[in-house]
Amino acid sequence: MHPLGTVGALGEETVGGLAADVDGELVLPDGEDYDAVRDVWNGLINRYPAIVVRAAGSEDVARAIGFAREHGLELSVRAGAHEQSGSAVVDNGLVVDLGPIDHVDVDPDARVARVGPGNATADVLAVTQEHGLAPPTGSAGNAGVAGTTLHGGIGWIRRKHGLGVDALRRMEVVTADGEVVTATPEENGELFWALGGGGGNVGVVTELEFDLYEVGPIVGGLSAFYPREAADDVFGAFRSFAADAPPEATAIMNYAEVPAVPGMPPELHGEAALALIGCYAGDPEEGMATFAPLREAAEPLVDNSEPVPYAMLHEMGTMLHPWGRKYAHRSVFVDDLTDELHELLLERTAAAPGPMDGVGIWPLGGAVGSGPDSAVAWGDKPHMVVVEAAWESHDSLAHLEWARETERQLRALGGEGAYAGYVGVEEGEDEDWARKAYGDNLDRLREIKRRYDPDDVLSHNVAVEPAED
Ligand SMILES: Cc1cc2nc3c(=O)[nH]c(=O)nc-3n(C[C@H](O)[C@H](O)[C@H](O)COP(=O)(O)OP(=O)(O)OC[C@H]3O[C@@H](n4cnc5c(N)ncnc54)[C@H](O)[C@@H]3O)c2cc1C
Repeated sequence: MHPLGTVGALGEETVGGLAADVDGELVLPDGEDYDAVRDVWNGLINRYPAIVVRAAGSEDVARAIGFAREHGLELSVRAGAHEQSGSAVVDNGLVVDLGPIDHVDVDPDARVARVGPGNATADVLAVTQEHGLAPPTGSAGNAGVAGTTLHGGIGWIRRKHGLGVDALRRMEVVTADGEVVTATPEENGELFWALGGGGGNVGVVTELEFDLYEVGPIVGGLSAFYPREAADDVFGAFRSFAADAPPEATAIMNYAEVPAVPGMPPELHGEAALALIGCYAGDPEEGMATFAPLREAAEPLVDNSEPVPYAMLHEMGTMLHPWGRKYAHRSVFVDDLTDELHELLLERTAAAPGPMDGVGIWPLGGAVGSGPDSAVAWGDKPHMVVVEAAWESHDSLAHLEWARETERQLRALGGEGAYAGYVGVEEGEDEDWARKAYGDNLDRLREIKRRYDPDDVLSHNVAVEPAED
C-alpha cells in the first residue's frame, strides 16, 4: 500500500489524535519535511514510512511505540541515520525519530556527559573537547553517537580508554511496552547489558551517560598514503606496529584509493594506495615519535601526519563517507595479520569494481572490553577487518557482490563473527547475522528480549528474536 493509503486507512481522527498527544512533531507523506526525515546516509536505501514521529523526549517515544503497537504498524528507530542497512526507516510503518533529543550536558569536574540520542559524534565532541575531554565514540564525526555506542563504539581512543560501551554508566530507556526506566549495571542490569552492544533490540535509549577521559584537544595524527608497489613493506611495518603499539596509539591500515579530500594532491586522487591513519591519545609529540618508524616503512605518496585537533580526525571520517553515496559495509574478526590475509586484501581490492571499494584492518586490544560486562561478543579479538564498498554509479550489483564475495573469502581464511554496526544486511539475505554479531551472547540476549520485547516490536536492526517458551 502507498504510505498515504496507510495514513488514510488509520483515519484522520486517529492520526490527529497522535499529533495532539505528542510534544514533538508528526511528519506525514504529504508533509514538507517528509523527504528529509525519511532520508538516510546510505543512498541505496529509499523507504517510505507512513508516519514519522519527531520525538521531543521519552514520553513521545512511549506514545509512538504504543501507537504503532495498537495499530499494527512496523516500527523503526532513527537516531543518526547512518546505519548502512537503513534500519532507521521502514516502508509503510512508523519511524520514531530521535533527532530532536539532542542535548549534550557536560560536568567537567565529575567527568561525565549526558547525551541525547539525536547527536552525531561531532556534536558531542564539540562540547566535551572544550574541556579537553571525550567519551569513546566512533571514528567518523557524522555517525550517530547512539547507534554507534549501542553496537559497541569502536573509535580512535579504544586502546587507551575502551569502546563506547565501556564508558557507558547509565541509560534512560523506553521499553517496548512504553515504560520509561533507568538502566545501569546495578539497576535493570540485564537491560543495561543487552543494550550495550545489542543495538536497540530491547529498548529505545533516550539518554546515554558516559564517563569522559582527558583527550587532546590536540592529539598525534597519522595520515600517510603509500603506493601499492610498497604494499609488502607497509603491511610488514603495520603488523609489527600493531603487535607492540602502546595503548595510546590506534592505527588502522586501509587498502584504498587516495581520496579526493582537502590535503590530498589532485594528481593522486583515485590512485590505488595503502593508507595508514591513526591517533595518539597522549602527548602529541610523543605520538609523532611513536608513529615515526611506521611512517618510514616506505616512500609515501603523501604524508600529512602531524599533531591535529582530535575532532579533526573525526571530520576526516565524515569527509571520506559523505551522505547520499551508496555503501555496503561488512566485517569479520581475525586473530592474526598473516601474509595470506594481506595477499587476499591486495587481490580483492585489485578486483574491485570501483576505486572507492576498499578494505581496512582495525586493530583492537588495549582497553577494549575494560568496562562493565556487555553484549559485545568480540571484545577479546585482536583485529577487525572492515569491507567498505562505496559507489555513485547505478551499477550497484557489482559492488554488493564484491563486498559479499570479499567477506566470504575472509571467512574462508578464518575470519569470524561480525561487528553489529557493519553487518551485510541486504534484501533477501537470509544469513544469521545475529549469531555472527553476538556469538555466544545470543542466547542470553534472546532471553532478555523475551522479557523486555516478547512481541518483537524493536526488530529493525540486527534482529534478535525473543527466546521461545
Ligand atoms: C561513515 C560511518 C562511519 C562509521 N564509523 C564507525 C566507527 O568508527 N566505529 C563504530 O563502532 N561504528 C562505526 N560505524 C557504524 C555505526 O556505528 C552504525 O552504523 C550505527 O548504527 C550508526 O548509528 P546511528 O545512530 O547514526 O544510526 P541509525 O541508522 O539512526 O540507527 C541504527 C539502528 O540502531 C538502533 N538505534 C539507534 N539509536 C538507538 C536508540 N537511541 N535506542 C535504541 N536503538 C537505537 C536502531 O535499531 C536503529 O535502527 C560507522 C558508520 C558509518 C556510516
